[in-house]
Amino acid sequence: MADYNVVVIGAGPGGYVTAIRAAQLGFKTACIEKWISPEGKNVLGGTCLNVGCIPSKALLDSSHHFYDMQHHAAEHGIQCKEVSMDVAAMLKRKDEIVSSLTQGIAGLFKKHKITRIEGAASFLTTHQLQVTAPDGTTQTVTADTIIIATGSVPVRIPVAPIDNEYIVDSTGALKFDSVPKRLGVIGAGAIGLELGSVWGRVGSEVTVLEALPDFLAVADRKIAAAALKELTKQGLAIHTGASVTSAAVVNGEVVVKYNDAKKGEQEIVVDKLIVAVGRKPYTEGLNAEAIGIKINERGFIEVDAERRTAVPNVYAIGDVIGGPMLAHKASEEGVMVAERLAGHKTEMHYDIMPWVIYTFPEVAWVGKTEEQLKAEGVEYKVGQFPFAASGRAKAHGNTSGMIRMIADAKTDRVLGIHIFGISASELLAEAVLAMEFDASSEDIARTIHGHPTLAEAMHEAALAVDGRPIHF
Ligand code: FAD
Ligand code: AMP
Repeated sequence: MADYNVVVIGAGPGGYVTAIRAAQLGFKTACIEKWISPEGKNVLGGTCLNVGCIPSKALLDSSHHFYDMQHHAAEHGIQCKEVSMDVAAMLKRKDEIVSSLTQGIAGLFKKHKITRIEGAASFLTTHQLQVTAPDGTTQTVTADTIIIATGSVPVRIPVAPIDNEYIVDSTGALKFDSVPKRLGVIGAGAIGLELGSVWGRVGSEVTVLEALPDFLAVADRKIAAAALKELTKQGLAIHTGASVTSAAVVNGEVVVKYNDAKKGEQEIVVDKLIVAVGRKPYTEGLNAEAIGIKINERGFIEVDAERRTAVPNVYAIGDVIGGPMLAHKASEEGVMVAERLAGHKTEMHYDIMPWVIYTFPEVAWVGKTEEQLKAEGVEYKVGQFPFAASGRAKAHGNTSGMIRMIADAKTDRVLGIHIFGISASELLAEAVLAMEFDASSEDIARTIHGHPTLAEAMHEAALAVDGRPIHF
């Protein structure tokens, strides 16, 4: 008999949620995690809690307060003279948030009687793993089912080698000990824009270089244009069509050369450079292929619709299998696998995936863009409502952006909702739920929304699909 029914490798949002769900379903469960914190402790939570979603949001919130006090407090009659930034205190706050949350997961593991195994897992056979602890000691663990949730790491590009001092990845950018005067960011994806915003708000002159010709190419075009305008107004110099060709540290400065699609060879000089060009799957040391697991040419573990690998008792979920590299995608995938092991018929609707970029204001969307629908030949109608016409947004003092709702021209079924505006990430939850329930725009239009709320903008966007917004 195996030691465990289920062993999960990795305790990021994919792995730890899978372990909890498996334990809830009655499986004898263990979770193996190798992450070592800067203090030298083995910690749970993976990328998301330690160097991803949570610390970035902690810094975004701190830097937002600082920026707001300087630029908007006076509008409220608040005089903030001599506002200053204590970077060490901001980082300490972030670290405390991370540590309380990672300890929280340890508590949840205890509550659910999940065995926590500290160390790096490597396949010996399809049912047997070797775990190497930080002190080098090894143990073997056997399981009926093994679920790989080993996540991802930042992509490195040879043109901008990370030295962790001047040229850093997203992890390094969460711990600058002072505000860089000039900051370069390669990549205008969610991570690049969020980290650029953090340091820009506290005083860096930020230049973002993005190789693609369009800003936020995956987002709704009107939303992307509004976001670009607003971020530029906040001081981020965003260059699209700018492909970085080299970055070198010269006399304590980083000289970044890039090819501008319109202007040709260009150069900027910065004090720090963040490389935020995406993430790649992580399977190092797993010995997965030796037991028959297939890994594709891009490094992702190959799985079927049920997230089963080429080895029948081994599953894989989260960033390591590709698709949207998002914490909630990883978690829900884990829930699906655990429930299917218990005989449930759980499915995930990948086309109803929430996407959020935590700039200020935020960009958030679910479902299809107009461009996608045009390409698919689907007839649609769009309702748009600007936050400038929302009483609550006015009271907040931030009226940038809008909600755009797209519905099928014939059936009125909601096909996509795109938001740029204050609290877009929270407003998106209604949009996701509506789409999960196959709502029509009329369903949302006929739903009573509290007043005064930002959510009224969702109501108005739905009314606008039918050409009858009240306040616009
Ligand atoms: P991970 O979180 O990467 O966890 C994998 C775990 O497996 C790690 O702890 C690793 O140590 C462990 N592991 C690997 N190999 C082994 C082994 N052999 N043995 C034992 N353990 C092993 N996503 C969002 O949805 N929202 C956000 O706001 C967001 N912000 C982000 C901001 C930043 C700066 C970054 C870098 C990422 C952000 N992400 C965000 C992405 C998100 O962090 C990932 O999608 C998510 O963490 C993936 O979860 P996962 O469980 O698949 O992998
Ligand atoms: P994401 O994958 O969403 O995190 O975004 C990463 C971004 O980095 C993508 O939009 C890429 O186009 C961009 N990128 C990748 N390599 C380069 C490069 N050499 N110069 C500028 N941008 C790049």
